[in-house]
Amino acid sequence: MKKRVLITGAAGFLGSHLCDRFLKEGFNVVGMDNLITGDLKNIEHLYPSENFSFYNCDVSNFVHVPGELDYIMHFASPASPIDYLKIPIQTLKVGSLGTHNLLGLAKAKKARILVASTSEVYGDPEVHPQPEDYWGHVNPIGPRGVYDEAKRFQEAITMAYHRFHGLETRIARIFNTYGPRMRLNDGRVLPAFIGQALRGEDFTVFGDGSQTRSFCYVDDLVEGLYRLLLSDYPEPVNIGNPDEISIKDFAEEIINLTGAKTKIIYKDLPHDDPKKRRPEIGKAKSILSWEPKIDRSEGLKITLDYFKSLNPDDLYKKEHKQFDKYIKR
Ligand code: UDP
Repeated sequence: MKKRVLITGAAGFLGSHLCDRFLKEGFNVVGMDNLITGDLKNIEHLYPSENFSFYNCDVSNFVHVPGELDYIMHFASPASPIDYLKIPIQTLKVGSLGTHNLLGLAKAKKARILVASTSEVYGDPEVHPQPEDYWGHVNPIGPRGVYDEAKRFQEAITMAYHRFHGLETRIARIFNTYGPRMRLNDGRVLPAFIGQALRGEDFTVFGDGSQTRSFCYVDDLVEGLYRLLLSDYPEPVNIGNPDEISIKDFAEEIINLTGAKTKIIYKDLPHDDPKKRRPEIGKAKSILSWEPKIDRSEGLKITLDYFKSLNPDDLYKKEHKQFDKYIKR
C-alpha cells in the first residue's frame, strides 16, 4: 500500500515542490489550496498522475479528506511581507485556525504532521546566527506581527497536541528560500530583483542594503523537510542555508548574473525589517544528516532560467486576480 500524504498550500512555491518530491518517492499525494496566493500552473503537470488529487479548500474554515492519511505537510500560508500587508487576517487565520483544523485532522487520521514554521519566529534577532533555543525578538503589533505571531501560535498549538494528545508532530523553521515557481510579483527580494533586471528597471534596495539574509535553494530545502518528516524529532529544526549575504551585495550578484544595465536605487526600509538573518543548522546536521548542497551561483542560474521561460506578459502583471476580492479598498 502506498503511503498517503496531504500537502496544504500545494499550489504554492514550496507546496508544489513538495508534491513533486513525494510523488517521486512513490507516495499518493493529496494537494489542497484555496489559491489566494497559490497558482494551479505550479501543479498542472501533476494532473495526469493517478497518484495525485487536488482539493480547492480553505483550511482555515474546515478540512475534510476522505480515506486514510499517513502524513500531513501544512504549507498553506501567505509568505511574503507584501502578502501579509494585503491579506493580514487570512495570514493570521491560516497559521492559527488552519493549523488547529489540520492538527484535528491528523489526530482523527492518526497521521504524523509537519508544520511549516519560519525564521520569522525569531523576529529581528538579537542573537546571531539563530539557534533553535533562541526565543526571538518579535513585535506583535507591527505589520509582520500577523505572520510572526500566527507562526509562533502554530508552534505552540503543535507542541500542545504533541504533549497533550501524543500526536506525532514535526516543526520546520524555514529560512529564506528561492527557486523556480516563486511568484514574480510577490514583493520578495529575489523575484523583485530578477523582474527588475528582465524589465530593464532600476533595482530597489530597501534601507542601505546592509541587512543580511541567507538564501537556500528549494531542492535543498525540500530534502531537509523530507528528512525531518521521516525523523523522530518533535522539536523545531532550522532548515536553511547559512551562506549569508547583504541585500546590497545580493543586488550586485544579480546584476552580474543577468548582465542588467541598471543601477541601484535606495528606498525606505520596511517596518521591523530584520537586520540580520542566518540559520544555525547544527541540529539539522546532527539529527537529519542534512546540509545544503547547492550554492547560490548554481541556484540563481536555474531560477533565472525559470523566470526567463515565463510568458513575457507575466513580467508586467501586477498581481493575481484572486487577491482582489480579499483586499480592503
Ligand atoms: N528587499 C529589498 N528590495 C526589494 C524587496 C526586498 O531591498 O525590492 C529587502 C527587504 O527589505 C529585506 C530583504 O530584501 O531586507 C528580504 O526581503 P523579502 O521580502 O524577500 O523577505 P524577508 O526576508 O524580509 O521576509
